[in-house]
This record gives sequence, structure tokens and C-alpha cells, in this order.
Amino acid sequence: MRLMIAPQLLAWWDKHGRRQLPWQKDRSPYRIWVSEIMLQQTRVETVIPYFERFMASFPEVEALAAAGDDEVLAIWAGLGYYSRAHNLLKAAGIVVTQHGGELPRDFDSLVALPGIGRSTAGAILALAHGQRRAILDGNARRVLARVGAVEGWPGKASVSRTLWRLAEANTPSERVRDYTQAIMDLGATVCLRHRPRCGSCPLADCCSARKKGLTTGIPAPRPASNRPLKRSSMLVVQRPDGAVLLRRRPPTGIWAGLWSLPTLANEESARDWCGRVLGCRPAGQAELKPVRHGFSHFELEIRPIHLPVSAPPRELHDGDQWRWHDGEQELGMPAPIRRLVDSLEVGAGGPR
Ligand code: SF4
Repeated sequence: MRLMIAPQLLAWWDKHGRRQLPWQKDRSPYRIWVSEIMLQQTRVETVIPYFERFMASFPEVEALAAAGDDEVLAIWAGLGYYSRAHNLLKAAGIVVTQHGGELPRDFDSLVALPGIGRSTAGAILALAHGQRRAILDGNARRVLARVGAVEGWPGKASVSRTLWRLAEANTPSERVRDYTQAIMDLGATVCLRHRPRCGSCPLADCCSARKKGLTTGIPAPRPASNRPLKRSSMLVVQRPDGAVLLRRRPPTGIWAGLWSLPTLANEESARDWCGRVLGCRPAGQAELKPVRHGFSHFELEIRPIHLPVSAPPRELHDGDQWRWHDGEQELGMPAPIRRLVDSLEVGAGGPR
């Protein structure tokens, strides 16, 4: 369905578009790629300092490909969704070894790289090379769903197909770079998720959701019943100097490769775990307030158990998979674990 939105969007962008973002200054495919990955599920204002630090450390794809997991995760720490960082690193290795250090210019090779989906590939090709490619990131999806009054949760296959058809049909052949930036900018600054600013919108006259009074319900949220609740007991083992014991997560699965708290298996008590792994008895034991964290497919309830240890624990088996965190280093930690550890006054001892 052609919505005839490109002329209005481009005219609006010429006046109000964002042109000073760091990744717009030197539009290399590599910089655009990194920015597009960072911008997934994250706001521009949050991304800017991360992007600048990342580029200072890894100015070229070769530098990124040569980096270690920990180096990349330390810069990514706090940005969340860490699989994006793992995939960037993996893809950088492939770009260097299989594509001569150049990000592929053809869609199929690009979308085959880890972490690059259909929309991200489209955005990279449109923004870096001016190719006519549709995008459907969160912002473009919201604008198109509202202008076309597409009801239903966009994660549902049939709704997603409709939205992709709209995105394909409405991407212009001319000024595709500007159009791509414009639809993302409109979603980020005018067609907001809550309280869209329809009075300032260049698409107000052709927006079906606005005319029908449906802007609040479009796009529809994910159905709540889709996410089961899982529970996990995690141990907050703390030395007298306040340092907290962290365990590196396995290389696959949730929070892959990040530093987290050790998990307690169902059948083992915290006290037994302490004896088996650390060779000491905890000086006490207290249940801390549970923490909830939402993943795309389930909700996790973390039940933290605080275990102060007074005796210096013995050398740990698998030494490089453990570390005592004293709050000094930037580590790649999942956001809820970081908040939990920070709330303990790491380095000062004991929960607040
Ligand atoms: S008129 Fe309102 S709902 Fe429609 S695209 Fe513009 S801001 Fe979004």
C-alpha cells in the first residue's frame, strides 16, 4: 500500500532532521554498522558516549576483530543487550577474514553476518551506499503502523509481513539516505510511543491511526501472557573488604560471556555451595529483595542470597572464570546484576 509519505517526510527532515550525530560525520559503513547495532533498543542520547568510546578504541574493523571479548564488553558495559557486542566481534572477524576488511555491499552477504537482521542490513546499505532498501526498526515500525493503522502486535508474523510490505512500498528511489534517516528521526522525536506529537507531525493529514483515534493502541504491545516466569537463586558472596565474587557466564545462552553472580542449583544449600566451591563457611546468610528482569521470551526473578565470608577463600578451580569485583574496574555485567552489586556498596562492605 503506497501511503505517499516520502515527500512530506523529506520536507520535514530538511528543516528538523538530526544531522550532527557522531556517526553522521564520517559515514563509513563500519561506523554506520556499529551505530545501527548500538541503536537497537537504545535511545540516541544513551548511545552517543558509548559510540565515541567504542570508536576511540576500535576505529577500524581490523582493530575490533583483533580485540578480546573482555575489552569489547568493558566498553559496552551498561549499554545492555550484550549479545549485540558478541555478534559485532564475531562479525568483525568474518569481515576481516572473508571480506577483505570491507563490510559487504550486497544484502545477502550482509544479512548473513552475526547480529545483522533484515532491517539493520537495509539501514547500512541505504545510509552508507544510498541503495534503495527498506528498514523496519522500532521507530520506522511505529510510524508505518500508525500511518497505515496496522493493528496487532508487530512481533506476530502476519503483522510483521504487512509492515514490511508497507516499508518496501513506501521507500523512495530518490534521496533514500535522507528518507531512511527521516523516518527514524520522526519516530524518535515526534511519533513517540506514548503521547505522539501529532500536532507537529508532517504526516498528520495522511495518518489513519490519528484520524481513527487509534494512536494509543498502535502498535499493539506484546501479549502479556507470552512470557513465563523463571526463578533463580544467586549468591552474593562478599569479602570483608566489600568485594563481591563474580562468575563468568558460559559462552552461549543468556548473558553469554558476561560477569554475573554464581547461581545456586536447586538441590544445594548456600552453605554447602560455600564449602564446596570456596572451602569456607559463610559468616552469615540473608535473603535480599528479589529482582525482576524481562527477557524477550521469559521473565526472570532473581532471588539473591547474601553470604559474607570472613575467612580468605581458597584458590578457585577454573580461576579465569571467577573474579572478586571491588567496584574499581568497568566489567561487562548484565544490567540487573550490576544494579544489585552496586546497591551493596562494593568496596565498602555489606548491603545498604
Ligand atoms: S500523526 Fe501522530 S500518530 Fe500519526 S505518524 Fe504523526 S505523530 Fe505518529
